[in-house]
Amino acid sequence: MSVKNLLLAFIAILISLINVQGQKADSTQNKQEKKYQAKAPDTQSFGKEAFEASDKTTIRWLGMAGFLINSRGTTMMVDPLLKGFDMPVMIDFPIDTEDVPRLDAVLVTHSDNDHYSIPTNRDLARVTKAFHSTVYVDSLMKNEGFPSFGHNIGDTFSIGPVEVTVTPADHAWQNAYPGTGDRFFKEEDSAGFWITTPDGTIWATGDSRLMPEHLQMPTPDAILFDFSDSEWHFTLEGAVKLANAYPHTPLLLHHWGTVDAPDFAPFNGDPKQLEKRVVNPKRIYVIAPGEPFVLKRLKKSTD
Ligand SMILES: [Zn+2]
Repeated sequence: MSVKNLLLAFIAILISLINVQGQKADSTQNKQEKKYQAKAPDTQSFGKEAFEASDKTTIRWLGMAGFLINSRGTTMMVDPLLKGFDMPVMIDFPIDTEDVPRLDAVLVTHSDNDHYSIPTNRDLARVTKAFHSTVYVDSLMKNEGFPSFGHNIGDTFSIGPVEVTVTPADHAWQNAYPGTGDRFFKEEDSAGFWITTPDGTIWATGDSRLMPEHLQMPTPDAILFDFSDSEWHFTLEGAVKLANAYPHTPLLLHHWGTVDAPDFAPFNGDPKQLEKRVVNPKRIYVIAPGEPFVLKRLKKSTD
């Protein structure tokens, strides 16, 4: 073997050693990259019985930010997402769109596709009497031919015996990332809903940064609680503040545990972090998608 060949052989051995080291580093890194993410409890599927006449108000989380409310037979969904999301979902949705027999209304808080799911709403439009949202989202719904209504913040409208008031939200994140939206987003393009039923009030906050107004609402009997430690949401600090502003109100957490995105703050909230810090942590309901929660009016003395 010449000196040159010896040198080449030595270089070859060196390269293969570097490769082995590199692969080891890669596989360790991959293991570290998959961070822990809290996941929703196992789904409890339901069918048309959840839409039937009833003598109470029942709330079911649909996964993501969606809810079904059946208030004494008046049925509505808030931000339903039951199919066609563009990120991997790690839960089973509790009902298929084709199994939804009827809805008096669909309420949509804002245009993000984890809340305004066009594939879901196209299916639901067959059985839904009315769609309600902000003025901007209404314009998108009109393009789809949905029977939709647009509302300003503070407006009130009725769904049978249920009264809904539109609450403020601060979630115009698109303006901070040029290219994500083809328009300037206004604060009033996003909203929440204050839902007054015969059995008490439900506040669907919508996605939002914490606003002073959020801490000065009347005491709701349940909050559909946007929970994620993201700067465009309440953040963990803000969630604690909001929860403690209504220290007896049951909190039905959503926006967590559904999308497989351990590195993406809007979707990777962990209810355990909130449980450690709120007053009366037992009122945090980590409900499974589809699990019924019966609304009860809070006792006046706890206001
Ligand atoms: Zn969202």
